[in-house]
Amino acid sequence: MRTGHDLELVHVTKRYGTAVAVADVSHLFVGGSYVCLLGPSGCGKSSTLRMIAGHETVSEGSILLSGMDVSRLPPARRGTAMMFQNYALFPHLSVTDNVAFSLKMKGIAAQERRAKAAAMLELVDMGRYADRLPAQLSGGQQQRVALARALITGPQVLLLDEPLSALDPFLRIRMRAELKRLQRELGISFIHVTHGQDEALALADEIVVMNNARIEQAGPARQVFNAPETEFVARFMGGHNVLALPQGRFAIRCDEIRLDPAGHEAVVQAVEYQGAHVALTARAAGDQEIVALIPEATFFEHPITPGEAVRLGWDEGRLHRLHA
Ligand code: ADP
Ligand code: MG
Repeated sequence: MRTGHDLELVHVTKRYGTAVAVADVSHLFVGGSYVCLLGPSGCGKSSTLRMIAGHETVSEGSILLSGMDVSRLPPARRGTAMMFQNYALFPHLSVTDNVAFSLKMKGIAAQERRAKAAAMLELVDMGRYADRLPAQLSGGQQQRVALARALITGPQVLLLDEPLSALDPFLRIRMRAELKRLQRELGISFIHVTHGQDEALALADEIVVMNNARIEQAGPARQVFNAPETEFVARFMGGHNVLALPQGRFAIRCDEIRLDPAGHEAVVQAVEYQGAHVALTARAAGDQEIVALIPEATFFEHPITPGEAVRLGWDEGRLHRLHA
């Protein structure tokens, strides 16, 4: 759903002293979309998010929301809201008062504040915990409160910095489905920072891959996964081999590699059972490592052990040329 509330970064740079955390980044975040900012630790994701939120100044460039330059506005006047990694709830305030806090700051009457907070708590399925203190809630419940508190301001863009990283794996998968549902129901943009490619693939309409303070590649999740443009993206997204061939460097998905009597000879280094697949790591001529994901039923027809020689083949049409 396109809302018209596009967010645009125009040549945005962030410096801390002489260190460059974000280097001349330009990008259009389409209104109403779920975007994941993905990249390794230190690549500039949080700095980018904090500049959008207004919690950090922009060193150079500008940030436009719905065509208006918001770069110099205070956080509360931008039309964005941020949910922090550690939730940052006030320990001495009830769930309701935490959620209603920003409305109180705006001078909205108690009754209206409470009604709005109650509606937000229903939205995140926390209505029955309205009178508790944060310490009386589980991590997942605190997170829902933090979400309600961010959403009560009616933002056009919700900014989430590694919102799932403190949760156990089971809860993480449940919460990520909830985030996706909320985004769809509200029809606003979510910009979600993560270093997990699974999380980005599961959630994002668009994935923006960052590396070394820059955007390395951006596009729909399937495109970024299936057609990585650089070796960094291929390796970071995972599930790919990077092959050095006479014509250049290419990426190919590990599940496109098959056992093939006419293929390249390689010696198996490791065999890992992964449930639906078995991952074979093998070494071919020129010290080329190749990982093949073999469907488990196929593998167990003729099991292979480390040290054995195999032949691996692939469809040339599945290779993607990588840019340097
Ligand atoms: P990410 O969120 O991708 O891990 P950050 O945006 O937090 O990356 O950091 C990018 C770079 O900027 C890192 O090298 C980090 O050390 C540096 N950095 C982040 N915040 C500050 C700060 N407040 N002062 C100085 N350097 C910072
Ligand atoms: Mg960060």
